[in-house]
Amino acid sequence: MKIITDVSKKKTIRVGNVEIGGNKPIIIAGPCSVEDEEQVLKIALEVKNQDASILRGGAYKPRTSPYTFQGLGEEGLKYLKNAGIKAGLLTVSELLDIRDIDIVEGYVDIIQIGSRNMYNYPLLKEVGRLNKPVILKRGLSASIEEWMNAAEYIASNGNLNIILCERGIRTFETYTRNTLDLSAVPIIKGISCLPIIVDPSHGTGRRELIIPMSMAAIAAGADGVMVEVHYNPEEALSDGEQSLNFDEFARLCQRINDFTSFF
Ligand code: PEP
Ligand code: MN
Repeated sequence: MKIITDVSKKKTIRVGNVEIGGNKPIIIAGPCSVEDEEQVLKIALEVKNQDASILRGGAYKPRTSPYTFQGLGEEGLKYLKNAGIKAGLLTVSELLDIRDIDIVEGYVDIIQIGSRNMYNYPLLKEVGRLNKPVILKRGLSASIEEWMNAAEYIASNGNLNIILCERGIRTFETYTRNTLDLSAVPIIKGISCLPIIVDPSHGTGRRELIIPMSMAAIAAGADGVMVEVHYNPEEALSDGEQSLNFDEFARLCQRINDFTSFF
C-alpha cells in the first residue's frame, strides 16, 4: 500500500458544499431502498429539515434473497436525484454491477460500493478511474488490511476521493445482524489518510441500537454516520427493522448536535 497510508496528508473530501473529514461529522440519511417518487421525496425533505446533508437511497439492491424487492434501477436513481435537488441534498446510491457504471455515475454525487462488492477488484479499478467520490463499505468478513487494499485499488487508479464506511462484520454473535467494529475508526485514523464514516443500521440490524452506536461512532472519531430512515419502517420494502422513523431520526440529530457543539 502506498497512497492511502500516507497519514501526513489527511484527506478532506468536498462535495458541493459538504465537507467530509473536516471538523464536523456529517449525517447521511435516507431509505434503504427508493420505493417510489413520493416516498423518497418525503424522506428527503424530512432528513433535510433535520441535519442530514446527504440523501442515501438504494436503486440497485444487493438482496440476500432473489425473491425480495430488487430495487427500481434507473427509475429509482431518477427519483433519488429529483428528491435531492428538491430538498437541497447531495445523493449517494450503490453501484452494484460494472455494467451500470455510466448510469449510476450520471445520477448521483457519490457512488457507494457495497459490502458484497468490496472484493470486486475490476469494479474497484473502474470507479478508480472516475472523477466522483466513492463510499467504500467494509466487506462482510473483511479484515482492515483487506479493506485498505480495496481502497488502494481505487486510489491507485487515480481517484483519491474515497470515504471508508464501517458497516459491521460477521462474527458468531447472532443477536445483532453484524458486529459493528467501532475499533476500526481509530485504527483507520491512525493508519490511513482517508475519512471514515459508520453505518449502524447495517452494522447492528436493530433500530434501537442506531442512536447509541451512532453516538459511540462519533465519540470514537468517525467523520459521519449513515443511517436508514423511513416514515413507516414497518411497511418499508427493505430493512425496515433497522430504519429510524422520523421522530427517532430527529432525536439522533439532536443528540449529535448537542455532542458536537463542544467540537
Ligand atoms: C446499503 O447501504 O444499502 C447496503 C446494502 O449496505 P451493505 O453493503 O453494507 O450491506
Ligand atoms: Mn439497507
